[in-house]
Amino acid sequence: AKAEGGSCLRVFEPAMDERLRTRRALVADLRNAMARQELTILFQPQVSTATRRITGAEALLRWHHPTRGLISPETFIPLAEQTGLIVPIGAWVLEQACHVARGWGDLHLAVNVSPLQVRQASFVATVEQALARSGLPPQRLELEITEAAMLANSAETLGILSRLRSLGVRLAMDDFGTGYSSLATLQRFRFDKIKVDRSFIRHLARDARAVALLRAVIALGSALDVTTNAEGVEDEGQLSLLRAEGCDEAQGYLFGRPMSAAEFHARVNRQDSR
Ligand code: C2E
Ligand code: CA
Ligand code: CA
Ligand code: CA
Repeated sequence: AKAEGGSCLRVFEPAMDERLRTRRALVADLRNAMARQELTILFQPQVSTATRRITGAEALLRWHHPTRGLISPETFIPLAEQTGLIVPIGAWVLEQACHVARGWGDLHLAVNVSPLQVRQASFVATVEQALARSGLPPQRLELEITEAAMLANSAETLGILSRLRSLGVRLAMDDFGTGYSSLATLQRFRFDKIKVDRSFIRHLARDARAVALLRAVIALGSALDVTTNAEGVEDEGQLSLLRAEGCDEAQGYLFGRPMSAAEFHARVNRQDSR
């Protein structure tokens, strides 16, 4: 067993080392990414399923690393969360995105918020500051929160969310259906929107069970008077099913990939001139 362990270590250790080194280097770079202006925000349209008109956009963060190229948020957001860097980065995203959305007429802006941000007592002040500095009316800001944020289930978190709602900011539950406590969370707290996770939309065409689940979530939203949004809509078949089932809003490559602020603005202007 000893010999086996030894040989195992020889093969395994360098790889582990390499991963740790990469992680440490990325974290060091991430600390400077904001100041070096390597972070940008893209906007993905959200549309009404009934009319296909744009109702708003979700802000999605990108990191252009000087040597590694574009790094996905699936990679760097977890690092930012583990190191606490998500707090300043998240505040930056919020304020920048609010500034951009100020010129969008009455469209809404959705911003992702990490569990760690929602647990900061200062988070309400951060949101108020972003709204005040940008001039975006609170009613047009929607914060997307995952169930993970609610898992802590602390009175403090619920208090922070209540204060945000009383500012007039709207709250969306992100990735609905993928966590462990969706229903319990909805029972404890009033959300304005449910975002049905992409994994439920992906299999709609071939899987009757996926359709049944989607139908149940839409019924739930309707009974609780909560807007429903379907993520990851990629084809017309999915859209017509969503429309038939009464899902309010859709988002996905069918309507547009995440795009620059300028591109989004042009899209909105084209829509308004039709
Ligand atoms: P999310 O909040 O669930 O965002 C939706 C993700 O699905 C985005 O990935 C989007 O580009 C992608 N997507 C949209 N439509 C489609 C589609 O039709 N098909 C497919 N296959 N994918 C689609 P992205 O931009 O890579 O972001 C990944 C995750 O990173 C986000 O998932 C969110 O959890 C996190 N994230 C992104 N920006 C921020 C941010 O500013 N703050 C925080 N805390 N998290 C962020
Ligand atoms: Ca989201
Ligand atoms: Ca999502
Ligand atoms: Ca997700």
